[in-house]
Amino acid sequence: MRFKCFTCGAEFDNIEQLAGHKRQHQASPKGPYGVTCLGCGRGIPIGPEKANYSGQLTCSHCRRTMTVVIEDGEVAVARLG
Ligand SMILES: [Zn+2]
Ligand SMILES: [Zn+2]
Repeated sequence: MRFKCFTCGAEFDNIEQLAGHKRQHQASPKGPYGVTCLGCGRGIPIGPEKANYSGQLTCSHCRRTMTVVIEDGEVAVARLG
């Protein structure tokens, strides 16, 4: 039996190889990145241009503004206001 990656269509002989391959997809530096809103708890999608960003970010759901510092796509600092 063959195991198929639904992301890119590559096929593998066993599930361990497929699992390792899927981890590579997840480690992709392209994102998508996201910040969890401190006001409503929902995700705010951010583009790769904000992978290294510090400043204001407005939640598209509740319209509250947060001050964030994002480094390599990871949120280092986030606070409301
Ligand atoms: Zn794949
Ligand atoms: Zn929000």
